Amino acid sequence: MSEIRLREAIDTLKESGVRITPQRHAVLEYLLNSEIHPTADDIYKALESKFPNMSVATVYNNLRVLREIGLVRELTYGDDSSRFDCNTSDHYHIICNDCGKIVDFHYPPLDEVEALAEQVTGFKVSHHRMELYGTCESCKQVETRKH
Ligand SMILES: [Zn+2]
Ligand SMILES: [Zn+2]
Repeated sequence: MSEIRLREAIDTLKESGVRITPQRHAVLEYLLNSEIHPTADDIYKALESKFPNMSVATVYNNLRVLREIGLVRELTYGDDSSRFDCNTSDHYHIICNDCGKIVDFHYPPLDEVEALAEQVTGFKVSHHRMELYGTCESCKQVETRKH
């Protein structure tokens, strides 16, 4: 599954005329195999041993390139802890209060909310984000073990 997605993503890179460096390839591959929506720092730490000369700035730079051609979505949280998501289809997120993990789930897009918001506020809505919060399965287990 992720093999196919990686090949498709690489085709998109080629079509956009973006050079595929080994580091860029590794960042993309890591994102496609990761379901936790990693930060740039997470990606850096995971690839550090493979690319000792790579800096966090390089990771950011690669993520920016991937975002610009639409392969990656950036989820900002008002600080520098942006999370990166390579699932660019419509989906929603649930976030663990304990470990910060972000998990995807699918729900029909809430188009009515956008239409209503436009009507009552006069805004032109570009997109919306919905996040649910809770305790993930593995943190739930840790908690029950503590009690
Ligand atoms: Zn958790
Ligand atoms: Zn996601």
